[in-house]
Amino acid sequence: MNTLIDRHGRKHTYLRISVTDRCNLRCAYCMPEEEMIWKRREEILSFEEIIRIAGVAVSMGVEKIRVTGGEPLVRSDIEDLLARLRAIPGLRSLALTTNAVLLKRKLPAIRASVDTINISLDTFSPERFRELTRRDALADVLEGIDAAIDAGFASIKLNAVILRGLNDDELLDFVNYAADRPIAVRFIEFMPFAGNAWNERHCVTMGEMLGRIEERFLLERIPDGPSPISRDYHVTDRQSGRRHAGTVGVIASMSQPFCDSCSRLRLTAEGKVMPCLHSPLEFDLRSILRSGGDDAAVAGLFLRALDAKPKEHPSAGELLEQSGRVMIQIGG
Ligand code: SAM
Ligand code: SF4
Repeated sequence: MNTLIDRHGRKHTYLRISVTDRCNLRCAYCMPEEEMIWKRREEILSFEEIIRIAGVAVSMGVEKIRVTGGEPLVRSDIEDLLARLRAIPGLRSLALTTNAVLLKRKLPAIRASVDTINISLDTFSPERFRELTRRDALADVLEGIDAAIDAGFASIKLNAVILRGLNDDELLDFVNYAADRPIAVRFIEFMPFAGNAWNERHCVTMGEMLGRIEERFLLERIPDGPSPISRDYHVTDRQSGRRHAGTVGVIASMSQPFCDSCSRLRLTAEGKVMPCLHSPLEFDLRSILRSGGDDAAVAGLFLRALDAKPKEHPSAGELLEQSGRVMIQIGG
């Protein structure tokens, strides 16, 4: 039975766990420009602590866990953590979000544990990639994507944050990338977080993105699942009449938020439960665990976090005034 129901009747079945605040890239929209102060090892939850929390969450109704970060593949022995999470009785699906820089190398060790994978990539240009991420690693990412396709995951999603003047001219390149690849390309509206220099001028809304794609491609809406976060479409090229192997979608967190059907809870790398990505509310599970709290105390904290979960997130303007965490410290 699911006991993770908030005041607004939303059932929570999905836990996103950040396993590190570190990353091998420096995406400008995710990390602040000034030097980051990384958490010390002892501040970050141990594998034992993560497994214990995840076990309690699954016993309360969580069916899907996503491992994210920072970059999850930089955490040492991540393959052991993924295997232990996958073995939790009752868990239906284990997902991973990665920038794919280390994916090809890590795939043999993680493939058996991970059901679905989300990969982030914002450009196909090596120079732009270097500018956006401050690292020269596009070739590794592209090899990682193809290795993931060869590995036959149940689902592969390719997420691109679209920024006007930076990569919005590549929208159609992304759609074409999925012409022969069985992947779901999803464009993400740029979201404001502390220190990410968000500016309305850089935002491209879902309406504009779909309009630009439809000039070249026919889009056929795919019916939403139970807690949709993206609007997804089958794609047919208007000129050749060819239907793409992959699909395209938009995550419109800003212009059309999906708060009504939100089923997610987040756990930060240092053990804070966050009921909403865009709310500064956080609840400290690490201190409960480290002061000898039992599973009932862990469950109680999840319920407190849910009780405080806002009905919806504030507008972009209000978010800008709020001094919350930077994205990399929340876990995307
Ligand atoms: N390092 C991994 C990666 O990049 O996939 C996982 C963590 S990252 C924080 C998760 C996702 O958050 C990425 O797809 C990234 O593009 C997205 N993200 C980060 N900052 C964002 C922002 N300001 N607006 C929209 N999406 C953002
Ligand atoms: Fe790292 Fe992912 Fe943030 Fe880029 S989006 S800096 S890859 S955590």
